[in-house]
Amino acid sequence: MRAINRHHGLAEEAYEAIFAQLMALRIAPGSRITVDNLARELNVSQTPIREALGRLEGEGLVIKTHLIGYSAAPQITRRRFDELYDLRLLLEPAAAQRAARTMDEGRLSVLKEVAGVMSRRQGGDERVRYSAFARQDSVFHDRILEYAGNELIRKTLANQHTHFHIFRLMFHSRVTEEALDEHEALLAAFAARDGRAAKRAMNDHIERSRDRLLPAFE
Ligand SMILES: [Zn+2]
Repeated sequence: MRAINRHHGLAEEAYEAIFAQLMALRIAPGSRITVDNLARELNVSQTPIREALGRLEGEGLVIKTHLIGYSAAPQITRRRFDELYDLRLLLEPAAAQRAARTMDEGRLSVLKEVAGVMSRRQGGDERVRYSAFARQDSVFHDRILEYAGNELIRKTLANQHTHFHIFRLMFHSRVTEEALDEHEALLAAFAARDGRAAKRAMNDHIERSRDRLLPAFE
């Protein structure tokens, strides 16, 4: 049992380390990823590295090509970026409105907890903080979609791995700091169970997020 736990621990650590490097663009989009190099750099065997890369492949961040091996997923194109934001603007504000109507103390405290984790400024590696923020933002938005109650819409957005792709466009603290205030506005609307305010807050949040990231294409 200890061997298994140790193995899982290593795979988890390898996953977190590679994820943080991908989000912070230390592994450049489109670049080759060598299992050997990562194993050496992280000082583990190839098995946990392969396991971590398999998981990242499932999240759309890594691509495996037959006979060639692994590479970091290419940066999303401007066209795909516009399409993603169009999709989000169609679906998420309406979902926030519906979620507000179903809001109770339990759900509100879950959302506050997720938003709170994002705002906690832990010390340490900025890259790790940034990647953790990207993941929590994805959880925050996914929870709201869950509370809105349409699983098809929730899955459609989850399958795009939107947050991982958009946060990888730019590695900048502004991307995270401004989003915190916008999440606060959403939480206030949810606390008041005000559907229209939640819809507006979500719309503003997504439009501002788009505007923050657009310079990545210049
Ligand atoms: Zn957000």
